[in-house]
Amino acid sequence: MKTTGDQQLVKRINRSVLLRLVRERPGLSRAQLASHSGLTKSTVSLLVRELVEQGWLGEAPATTTAGIGRPSTPLRIHPHARGIIGIETAVDCVRVVAVSLLGEVWWSGEEPLASTAPAAACAQAARLARLAYDGMAARGLRLSGVGLGLPGAFDEATGVVRFAPNLGWRNVDFLPLLTRALAAAGLPEVPVHTQNEADAAALSEYEFASGDGEDALVFVNCDVGVGAGIVLNDRLFTGAQGMAGEIGHTIVQVDGPLCSCGRRGCAEAFIGARAIAGEAAAMGHTRQAGQFLGVLLQNLWTTFNPRVLVLGGSSCVGHPALVQVAQDTLNAYAASAGMAAPALRVARYGMLAPAVGAAALVLHQYLRPMHPRQTARQLP
Ligand SMILES: [Zn+2]
Repeated sequence: MKTTGDQQLVKRINRSVLLRLVRERPGLSRAQLASHSGLTKSTVSLLVRELVEQGWLGEAPATTTAGIGRPSTPLRIHPHARGIIGIETAVDCVRVVAVSLLGEVWWSGEEPLASTAPAAACAQAARLARLAYDGMAARGLRLSGVGLGLPGAFDEATGVVRFAPNLGWRNVDFLPLLTRALAAAGLPEVPVHTQNEADAAALSEYEFASGDGEDALVFVNCDVGVGAGIVLNDRLFTGAQGMAGEIGHTIVQVDGPLCSCGRRGCAEAFIGARAIAGEAAAMGHTRQAGQFLGVLLQNLWTTFNPRVLVLGGSSCVGHPALVQVAQDTLNAYAASAGMAAPALRVARYGMLAPAVGAAALVLHQYLRPMHPRQTARQLP
């Protein structure tokens, strides 16, 4: 039977419904999946067989309830049949990870960034990704996709990096460059996705959480650049041109120090990794930087009302004192308003958050086949 485009889309949606149900509630049986999803038992049975054969789902030993009835087989996301490669092209280094569908990091590698020229940066990332892939292939693991996070505004609709000031990029047609570099390095043809590094980092917390991800979630990445990744209503919120969350360039001091973007008094000029490293010895600066970070968090709280704020990047991961001042500042604002501050924590994956998040991006896209921009790109 010939399947039409509509049927293929319906099948992808049904598969993603089943995968998300099993991820949220590991151990569901086929019968439970049918009742939770509203799909017929025969559809569930067909799709589950396929998902098991393809290594997305695994079956645990069958169980019977009190020894009566047909045994049911608990289903889980398969922890080691498929993997995803995540890449972070940062301002001064490249990080690559291979992770499981559940976010377990199997392999990680890091090198200084040899060149900021886009094609050279892609080639270097692809060579490191090849090492990750060889390790996966040697263990018989299948690759589900490759994701890359970078310090700039990525326009999902066109695949173009609009602006990455710390790399000196403007309007770089990035996705084709990366796809070609991965093919040249000998990786198999798989889905390839790109996103801003803070957006990617937000997904490392959201897609690989156990149970339901926390929504809304804001990830504040304080590295050389400072940006926020925002998950809102089960999606990344990236704005019209991918520039939502560029909080590093919100002004925190009128006529303050000069920032990389040309403005004066941006948050990045106080809490960016270079500002922190330059003033590392000065405790006074750490206090002031922590207060400015606290101001950013307060403003993000009132803008998005997140369930959780997550801090990452070298300014936060390497400086617990700065995080403490930021927390105290946020708490003080909350107390003044007679409210409880939202939960605040440091990134679970530490400095690997953007790379692991880039891998999570592959899963995020795969599990949302009806994403309007993704669907639009597939039209002729
Ligand atoms: Zn700026």
